[in-house]
Amino acid sequence: MTAPPEGKLAIHLATIQADFPSTPPPIKAICTLARSQSWRSAFNSLRALAAETHPLSPLARAPPRSRSEISFSMKIDSHHHFWRYNTDDFGWISDAMARIRRDYLPVDLAPELVARAIDGCIAVQARMTTEETRWLLELADKSPFIKGVVGWVPLSEKSVSAELDRFAAHPRLKGIRHVVQGQPAGFLDNPAFNAGIREVTARKLVYDILIFANQLEEATRFVDRHPNQVFVLDHIAKPVVQGSPDVIWMKQIRDLARRENVACKFSGVVTEIPGFASWTPEQIHPYFDIVLKAFGPQRLMFGSDWPPCLVNSEYARWHQTVEGFTTRLSDSDRARILGDTAAEWYRL
Ligand SMILES: [Zn+2]
Repeated sequence: MTAPPEGKLAIHLATIQADFPSTPPPIKAICTLARSQSWRSAFNSLRALAAETHPLSPLARAPPRSRSEISFSMKIDSHHHFWRYNTDDFGWISDAMARIRRDYLPVDLAPELVARAIDGCIAVQARMTTEETRWLLELADKSPFIKGVVGWVPLSEKSVSAELDRFAAHPRLKGIRHVVQGQPAGFLDNPAFNAGIREVTARKLVYDILIFANQLEEATRFVDRHPNQVFVLDHIAKPVVQGSPDVIWMKQIRDLARRENVACKFSGVVTEIPGFASWTPEQIHPYFDIVLKAFGPQRLMFGSDWPPCLVNSEYARWHQTVEGFTTRLSDSDRARILGDTAAEWYRL
């Protein structure tokens, strides 16, 4: 039996195994650890370990490598939520969405990620409270597969700077989001809100844009005010998904995509089908093609929007669908969409 890897790496392996008690050690996650700068030299000992315990795993079958040759891609879910359900905070979960009226915690997500060989995820705010931001960062401390948190701070308030300083000290805080969908027209033009965004820029954090399609023009104007801010558009701006894609949405999303400081999440699409009607990948494919062409693989990333996605798709079905859309692309373009774009933009 090969000796287990030493020190820091062994501790992280033990943490991962504790997170997945009912599954074998996720070899992909081990690869990710081996890939990270400080642990690269551990690759060959990990490979030897995998050969003993999981002889058929990709890691065990990989040839021994010199440090410079190691280049695994990470698979990342760039967008999901955790919550402890209560009727006050989650009044937006309608009767039609009753399935998601319950708690969703790391222990619920972990098996979904393992089943799709996804290395890590980005947990995004669902409630507009700093208490939730603190809670998500705490979850990330306990679960190494939560590689990033997009939290909430009061962007329009004087306290924004102090709140950002408090949270940005945590290495897993990668971005900030405010729920702008459904806000009155002109919300993104508000000077106080824009001053808050400049504080986000100063701390080199991502800002996630959550809007409905009818706010795209306003969002483009907003982006133009912040050329040094890194933006990620959530859920392709939530067009109604029915029949062929709306021409105004197409025009406006292409216009936004001309801004090089904006990337896009292919997530949440099936929850925009009216009445959560049943769907086929063929119905969704045109939407993927439009954002792929507009943003390119360098600026497009997979996201699940779990648990809301569950009202119209199991986790695995959505990931499989998006993965299916990428099969005609080159290996490197696929790797971008399925993880590398998120890893780069959020600096995971
Ligand atoms: Zn979401």
